[in-house]
Amino acid sequence: MKELPPEFGVMHKKDGVPVFKVYLAGKWVEASDLQDVRSPIDQSLLAKVPRLGFDAISNALETMYVDGRFDIRDTPGEKRLEIYHKAADLLLKFKDAFIDVLVLNNGKTYPAAEGEVKAAVERLRVADLDVRKIYGEYVPGDWSTETLEAEAVIKREPLGIVLAITPFNYPLFDVVNKVVYSTVAGNAIMIKPASSTPIVALMFARILEMAGFPGKALSVITLPGSQMSKVVSDPRISVVSLTGSTEAGIEVMRAGGIKQYIMELGGGDPAIVLSDADIKSAASKIVTGMTSYAGQRCDSIKFIFAESQIYDELRRSILDELGRVKVGDPRESGVSMGPLIDEETAKEVVAATQDAVEKGGKVLHGGTRKGNYIEPTLIEVDKEKLPTLYLYKKEVFASIAAITPISNIDEAIKLSNGRSYGLDAAIFGEDISKIRKLMRLLEVGAIYINDYPKHGIGYFPFGGRKGSGVGREGVGYTIESVTAYKTIVYNYKGKGIWEYM
Ligand code: NAP
Repeated sequence: MKELPPEFGVMHKKDGVPVFKVYLAGKWVEASDLQDVRSPIDQSLLAKVPRLGFDAISNALETMYVDGRFDIRDTPGEKRLEIYHKAADLLLKFKDAFIDVLVLNNGKTYPAAEGEVKAAVERLRVADLDVRKIYGEYVPGDWSTETLEAEAVIKREPLGIVLAITPFNYPLFDVVNKVVYSTVAGNAIMIKPASSTPIVALMFARILEMAGFPGKALSVITLPGSQMSKVVSDPRISVVSLTGSTEAGIEVMRAGGIKQYIMELGGGDPAIVLSDADIKSAASKIVTGMTSYAGQRCDSIKFIFAESQIYDELRRSILDELGRVKVGDPRESGVSMGPLIDEETAKEVVAATQDAVEKGGKVLHGGTRKGNYIEPTLIEVDKEKLPTLYLYKKEVFASIAAITPISNIDEAIKLSNGRSYGLDAAIFGEDISKIRKLMRLLEVGAIYINDYPKHGIGYFPFGGRKGSGVGREGVGYTIESVTAYKTIVYNYKGKGIWEYM
């Protein structure tokens, strides 16, 4: 890892390896118990970060609960916006350092890493739009005999402390997004990044500190997810916003009990290709949706359902496109697909491929691995066998998809809705009556017509149904999940309120 700019003096070096401190309620804190952070490119040791115990986290929570949640709430809205804008400028100033870490720690290609930094900058700037959703209501009571002389103002209030748990795949953007919607609404935030990619979250805490964010309203904690249950269930936390696997979501909701939740969970999306689709364009978009960031995206395309009239042509075009995907070290030019985050997932791709073959599937592309590098994998499976596949039942977080001919869109609806996930779907084609039926009946959170699913900065809201989650993330769309209504009733005794309204 390149030397970080001096402004990030939040680490020292031990045997040549950077050792990070964590940010706990306004203070950079060292720890003796450390965990390794490695690069998926070549497994080299990039840094060490603290492995915190519950006591340190509880102390930080206490400061946040007693002071921090009021410090942020008492920071005027326009001042909060100023902080996000300053943070955006600082992110741009230190863009190269963030890109370097995203390439090395995530195995992203340079354009993908740069895209994530740009998205984070834009998300900070569009905080201005979130604020339009922080409003209340006025309800006159004279429509009911019980409240004849009363009126109410219903305001939205911050809930206190949001625990934001983020996944490895967008380690900067997810943190920034959760910081913006939680704190613009007046909450303090404790961030728990993925253990494999915690560095940019710590760097972003320093950016917020430099931008003037109230210190006691922010913590970044590093510890394994398996040791989080005491934190998740802590009563001082009133909202948990998790982006991660469905399995993690289930564990967190069980441990957390009654709280407010935003759960952006597992997915793997279907692409439905109609007989009147532009095949070349559909194939190109499907392959991008399947291979970008090596398929390590919740909205990655995992199923292709094609009407039988165009099936052969689509399959040929997709295979042509897949032939152009170059897998390798993302630092090398021309490489479009880097490594998977770990070898375990690469083994899962091979096992899912073998499982599909045993059930009658035919591998058209990929299916093998070298360490944690895989070729994008495409398997042809018929519609009867598909529901029995491991790939259909569980999200395999990599570039792997099944392609299946269908006779009509009802089959695509049944196969799409038959999964326990329901994040997004893509439809390629022109026939408006078929598209409208699909729009109506697909059990997903978002539908992309003539494009592959992409959540981007959340300018359009996204989120799943069924096992894919609860709530929505998106500019302006998460405010209601991190706030609560408070009803204030004014009673004007002896006067019907209609008389003076
Ligand atoms: P993951 O293994 O579920 O981990 C996500 C986060 O949850 C990590 O910080 C992890 O910590 C933590 N965690 C795991 N178990 C926990 C528990 N019992 N209590 C508290 N925290 C726990 O997911 P990932 O591999 O990082 O990310 C990929 C997953 O995220 C995929 O399933 C993908 O579909 C999903 N995702 C969804 C969306 C969406 O918008 N719906 C967007 C992006 C990603 P450790 O790292 O320390 O284990």
